[in-house]
Amino acid sequence: MTEQREHTNPGSQRRWSSATTCVHAGTEPEPITGAVMTPIFQTSTYVQPFPARHKGYEYSRTQNPTRQALEACLAALEGGGEGIAFASGMAAIDAVLRLLETGNHVVAGNDLYGGTYRLFKRVYERFGLAFSFVDTTDLDAVRAAIRPETALLWIETPSNPLLRVSDLAALARLAHEHGALAVADNTFATPLLQRPLDLGIDIVVHSTTKYLGGHSDVVGGSAITREPELARRLRFLQNSAGAVPGPLDCFLTLRGAKTLHVRMERHCDNAERIARWLCEHPRVARVHYPGLPDHPGHAIASRQMRRFGGMVSFELRGNAEDAMQVCTRTRLFACAESLGGVESLIEHPASMTHASIPAEVRRLAGLEDGLLRLSVGIEDADDLIEDLGQALAP
Ligand SMILES: *Cc1c(COP(=O)(O)O)cnc(C)c1O
Repeated sequence: MTEQREHTNPGSQRRWSSATTCVHAGTEPEPITGAVMTPIFQTSTYVQPFPARHKGYEYSRTQNPTRQALEACLAALEGGGEGIAFASGMAAIDAVLRLLETGNHVVAGNDLYGGTYRLFKRVYERFGLAFSFVDTTDLDAVRAAIRPETALLWIETPSNPLLRVSDLAALARLAHEHGALAVADNTFATPLLQRPLDLGIDIVVHSTTKYLGGHSDVVGGSAITREPELARRLRFLQNSAGAVPGPLDCFLTLRGAKTLHVRMERHCDNAERIARWLCEHPRVARVHYPGLPDHPGHAIASRQMRRFGGMVSFELRGNAEDAMQVCTRTRLFACAESLGGVESLIEHPASMTHASIPAEVRRLAGLEDGLLRLSVGIEDADDLIEDLGQALAP
């Protein structure tokens, strides 16, 4: 995939590249002072010179200029349409689920962010939604799971934590053949590496907490769609349920997004080197990284992604104890949940991010107790490899 050109510069016919979109989309100089960066409009309400006559802003749950700048930026990065920002990635996912009706059925990947699995199973099943969790890399398995009442297909690619790659275009077609919506969680890839809406997906969701914010200093989420009716309904849910991000959080996320393109190149460079290095390590049984030629999803990833991302996971020879020990021995890689920040992190999914998934369900999905997940940061690759080397030393 080459550099995408999608966002149209209002002043010219030329389309902006994604790098220019990162820096400029959504931000216009502020009209009163000319401030180049969108200010933090830290206000709950706006004066109305006459009842019900206002400048487009009534109350900050409904509209806020800092939030609107972020939403415009996120929509532009995903290639157009409308962005709807939420207080967290989970709040964005929650809003998408609220598009459904009691009795609807959802087909979802079986290698999902743990919190998404928890929301589906422990919250939405109580409200009469049914879920089937299948391997979305297997189109026949997805087809077999679809029922007459299936209203939504939920896809994460690359998935978490096994970095499995699902064919977004084929899955979108399959969902649409059965009258279901196709939704992709694009948190791991970011719009710089993968643009699901271009491949027929109806709604993209993000945890902007991760790469989009990029500095581990803010929690946020968003949903983006090109379909006006879906945008209208999500906007209605954003205002009705009220899980909106505050203006400071929007400002921080927008500031992070401005350097997404430079950060992602470095995340990818470092992750590619570390994945190759891990493949040669005697204590490592398996490396999961879509950029490796023997990764089962490599061909699809090469087609639908521009590069392969900053997440790497690997299975250590040994048990859960051994894997947990490695997390205590790294010095640069901090042992922490989350991902996508400038600093490198290591975690043990079975006891941390994916502990909310029952052990037998984890094992069936191929998530072994010896698995470790790296969020490779933008430090010097040699320093990172040295750190992993000393942590993996017997
Ligand atoms: C972190 C994450 C989420 C949840 O987002 P929060 O901002 O933590 O609420 C959802 N999906 C994926 C893939 C994630 O990594």
